[in-house]
Amino acid sequence: MRHIAIIGSGPAGYYTAEAAQKKFGDDVAIDIIDRLPVPFGLIRFGVAPDHQSIKAVSRRYEKVALTDNVRFVGNVSVGKDVSIEELQGLYDAVVLATGAPNDRELTIDGADLAGVYGSAAFVGWYNGHPDFKDLNPPLDGRDVVVIGNGNVALDVARILSKTRSEFEGSDIVAHALDNIASSKIENITFLGRRGPHQIAMTPKELGELGRLENACPRVDMADFPDEGDDAMLEPGMRKAVMLLREFGAIPESYRADKKVDIEFDFFASPISINGDGKVESVTVEKTMLDKDLRSQGTGETYDIKASLVISCIGYQTPPIEGVPYEHGRGRFASDQGRILPGLYCVGWARRGPSGTIGTNRPDGYAIVDLLAEDIGNGKGKSGREGLDAVMASRAVDVVTFRDWKKIEEAEHANARDGSPREKFVDIEAMIAASQN
Ligand code: NAP
Repeated sequence: MRHIAIIGSGPAGYYTAEAAQKKFGDDVAIDIIDRLPVPFGLIRFGVAPDHQSIKAVSRRYEKVALTDNVRFVGNVSVGKDVSIEELQGLYDAVVLATGAPNDRELTIDGADLAGVYGSAAFVGWYNGHPDFKDLNPPLDGRDVVVIGNGNVALDVARILSKTRSEFEGSDIVAHALDNIASSKIENITFLGRRGPHQIAMTPKELGELGRLENACPRVDMADFPDEGDDAMLEPGMRKAVMLLREFGAIPESYRADKKVDIEFDFFASPISINGDGKVESVTVEKTMLDKDLRSQGTGETYDIKASLVISCIGYQTPPIEGVPYEHGRGRFASDQGRILPGLYCVGWARRGPSGTIGTNRPDGYAIVDLLAEDIGNGKGKSGREGLDAVMASRAVDVVTFRDWKKIEEAEHANARDGSPREKFVDIEAMIAASQN
């Protein structure tokens, strides 16, 4: 029997489990360990609450979870309840599928002022992550600056500008819905340090910005290169740039009765965040592109008013003591996913935070091919029995998949009209629901 522990129950974790089932059939026992009592990681806490069709992929993970050779071991914190070394002693392979839940640091003056958040915290807040339930971001000011031109920046701006009725069918948590629906926000500015041809936004997501009930995007056509240059872009990017051009052509008359103006400020790099105790403005330097398409400051600066700043500049994987780590890239150091004998990484923890949810599928299959070469038919480890003994000796309240289904049932029962669920945002409340 082969024993595999996967740390992290997000997409990379479940695709790895699925691949291991396919590869080893009944001759494998897989434990998916998560520090939270609820599974699915990024699907639950990262994917936007108004993107329910993307979240539906969790049904595929559930199929894997409900098979006999896969267990969900929730509410177990690796590093606190059990160490990596202990897990390596218990399992033939330990796979870190911990994602990239920490923000890439914004290293400018004023980044620590009140009212400045990284997207991990902000997205976690509206998605009901227990770590960020008390964030209480100030939405009573008029001006928001969103740093970055990626899909997370788009999610954040869209969520902030939706009306209550536009959240119908979403699972945005009640505390965020109430605050957003009564917000005073009128201006949201995306700061992109490069130009329209360098955005990291995808067309489907960008298109949503043009269909908001009470908000409208604004793009300055002077920021664009010649239209003929769009032909050099790959098709997805060309489509996205076409949408930006359409935004640039929206007449003022259409904009007039929209409450929120969403402005794309291109060639604009934040150089400081200013305020007395809390954010009041952002100083921005105009940039230009060098021959390698990197942004270079021009020395020309200006200030933008801001009562809230959200930095959406990418994520990093939290390091684990004793596990080799690439600090510059914010991910574990590995050779194709092999970190140390018996220790592997997969998904964002291996590649860094890029690609779609589906990108993690081939990643999961590839790591299982590698570990299959290394572990053979298994090395007589104790696997789940050994883990159970350690957890029992430490009185850890392990949450199983069956327990999770009780939590889920209670979340469904608590849902407001039209919403699939009202998430529990307290770990204690999740555990209490799991014991009903
Ligand atoms: P991302 O796609 O890497 O975008 C990060 C953005 O931040 C880029 O525009 C980057 O500009 C900018 N940036 C980085 N450092 C900066 C700095 N110091 N100052 C100013 N700007 C800076 O990251 P993401 O938006 O966090 O998304 C992560 C992944 O999740 C992506 O693969 C994304 O597509 C995916 N995702 C998908 C969806 C969806 O499909 N619905 C939703 C959310 C996320 P440069 O290009 O100049 O570096």
